[in-house]
Parts: sequence; C-alpha cells; structure tokens
Amino acid sequence: MKILVINSGSSSIKFQLLDMNDESILATGLVERIGEPQGVLKCVFTPGADDEKEVEEKRIVTDHRAGMHMIVECLGSDSDVISDYTDIAAVGHRVVHGGEDFQQPTIITDEMMEVVKKNIPLAPLHNPANIDGIRVAQELFPTASQVAVFDTAFHQTIPAYAYHYALPYNLYEQQHIRRYGFHGTSHKFVASECARLIGKPLNKINLITIHLGNGCSMAAIKNGESVDTTLGMTPLEGLVMGTRSGDVDPAIHAFLVRNCNMSIGDIDNLLNKESGLKGLCGLNDMRDIHAAIEAGDKRAELALEVQTYRNRKYIGAFMAVLGRVDGIVFTAGIGENDPIVRQKSLEGLGCFGIELDPVVNNQRVKEPVRLSAEKSKVQIWGIPTNEELAIAREVKSVLE
Ligand code: AMP
Repeated sequence: MKILVINSGSSSIKFQLLDMNDESILATGLVERIGEPQGVLKCVFTPGADDEKEVEEKRIVTDHRAGMHMIVECLGSDSDVISDYTDIAAVGHRVVHGGEDFQQPTIITDEMMEVVKKNIPLAPLHNPANIDGIRVAQELFPTASQVAVFDTAFHQTIPAYAYHYALPYNLYEQQHIRRYGFHGTSHKFVASECARLIGKPLNKINLITIHLGNGCSMAAIKNGESVDTTLGMTPLEGLVMGTRSGDVDPAIHAFLVRNCNMSIGDIDNLLNKESGLKGLCGLNDMRDIHAAIEAGDKRAELALEVQTYRNRKYIGAFMAVLGRVDGIVFTAGIGENDPIVRQKSLEGLGCFGIELDPVVNNQRVKEPVRLSAEKSKVQIWGIPTNEELAIAREVKSVLE
C-alpha cells in the first residue's frame, strides 16, 4: 500500500511517498518559496538505497496548485516509484488545528472540510494552507482516499481543568479559547516507540515527551494518553523556542501598547518571530548558539540557560502531574542532536531518580537510544521523531 503524506505550509509543501508494506520511503522532498520570484522543488528517490537519486528543479511556483502539480510530475518521472497515480492508495494530510472537533485521523469528506474551515480562526496561517493542499490533492488523486491527521488530536484527552484558561467562561463557549496543544503526531509517535522499547503496554505507561526543534513542546502522558502539554491555544505558550517566546506575563502586551507604541500585529510578530532564542541572543539555531558560546558570547550563554531552565521547570511540573514517571523522551532537531541541552535540562534531577549516562548521552541520536544511567529510576530515551511515518501509519490504520 503506497501512501503519500502531504504537509502543506504557508509557503512550502513537504511530501513523502511511503510503501507501507515495509514502511520504506520511496520518495521524499519539498517545494519551497511558493509565491516568490523563484520557487524550487527538491526530491530524493529511495533515500539511503543503492539507487538513491536526487532531483532539483527551479521555477516560479505561483501557488499551492502549481506546487502540487510539480510534485505529481516529479513522482511520475520515476516509473519504479509509481507506474500510475492510481498506485497511490491514500493521501495523508497534516492539518494543524482540529479544534475540539477531531480526536482521530479522519477521512476527508465535504462535511468534515466545513468543520476544518470553521476552525480557521484558531489557526489563521496554517489551516488555509492545509485546506489548499487537500483541495488540490483531491483533484490530482481522485481515486485515492484522503485522510486528515490533526496536530491537536492527540491532546484531546487533556482534562478540562488542564485545558481551561482562567478567563471568563463565555470566551471558551463563544470563541473556543482554551488550550489545545500541538506536535501531537510527534508526541504520540515517540510515546508508542518508547513504550515498545521499555517493554510496557502503551496504556500502562507514564511518560514525559519533549519535542525540541524550532518549535518546542512537552507532553505529560498518563497510561498512553496526553493529560497536559505546554503549547496552548496557539503554538506560542510554554517552552522557549527558536523565535517564539513561550510563557510570558500576559500583562506585557498592554505594557507594550501603552509604552512602546506597538500595535497588536506588532506584538504578535514580536512574540512569534523575534523572541525565543533569537530574541535573547540574535541566533535561533542551537548549533550557532553553541559556536557563539565557544567564542565567548554571554547572551548566547544566557539563551541556552533560559531555554534549558524552562525545560527543567516544566519537567518538574509534569512529574507532579503524573506522579509516577516511567520514561522521559527527547526528540526533534535539538532533542535528538544536542547532548548539552539534554544534560542541562535534566541537571539536578538526580534526587528524583532521573540520571543521564554522560557517556551515552554524548552523541547525536540517529536511532532510539537509552540515555539514562543504569541506576536511573526513570528511563531517559532519545528517539528520532518521524512525523511522515507517523501520519502514514495513522492513515493506514484508518483505512484498515
Ligand atoms: P526541527 O524543527 O525538528 O527540524 O529542528 C530544527 C532545529 O534543530 C534547528 O533550528 C537547530 O536549532 C536544531 N539542530 C539541528 N541539528 C542540530 C545539532 N546537530 N545540534 C544542535 N541542534 C541542532
């Protein structure tokens, strides 16, 4: 069964074609800079295999429709990968915001698309791009099943006392203002991998999963279900991210309006694009931050301290939420590749039975690795996330 996974963003479309009989990747790539003067498609066929082949094509990509056409043309150019488009049994679409309406991956119908549209105010930048991707895929692959996999779905098990903000209740009822959480596909994927590796059934395991990439979030998982997470109504709350602030005092907004002549749009931009690691030290890539620290940059050092302190603080909070913790999992760009961030995020937690093995920790994680010391009561794991495979698995399970 061949499944095409589409992640349609505001100016890019990422794609991956998988053969779900053995979960191998047939092709993976992206179309970038949609709507800009020069767009580009990059694709790798059968990555890692002897006959791996790379394709790059530059041309103007006016919109998502043009981008999807480029992807289809590219996939069709290798007849070993797909002989005919009817070869593709299903297309899985990452959809950022499912609001309270979607707890599971869902087969796309006209009725459910109306509900996805209704949720646009909750994710005004992401959901429209996701909807565009779905519309074009429906036209281009009319014989394939189309399935939406929501970033928010895994967190729909969070109890009311954890997802409510202490705001007037009518804002929840009328505007659906509450915490939703994101990165759900990633948290769910690494949680089930971790349960398998620890050798406990997923519905009996308690985990703290830590997704540290350009976006960062943590999830408290009790008996296999998300019971709390750090991202909120939008992907801004919680941990310190590449360019996003994470938690700030909400009164800062009013302060900026009154004292710094800023508009709501300016503040939105400031908190999402100019804050986080970048706001603190001018750099948002953790590799650059380490290089700057080596060169004696004190602000870079501060940025690392602020991020890892916030991580540690939320680990403590989620230990209190869960009581018993069987495992802590690090994943995504920083979580997989950065031993220093892992070490600093867990510093001083030995008294809670959380101890890294410093030698094993000192590596970039390419496959799941147990990073905790023998005596650590809580197992610590580095597990690479694979959102495309996770989406393809979800799609397969829906179809079955
Ligand atoms: P992601 O959003 O999961 O693709 O993660 C992207 C982020 O991972 C980058 O912005 C970097 O900060 C970080 N990253 C990637 N590779 C490394 C590495 N080798 N060491 C430290 N951080 C890394």
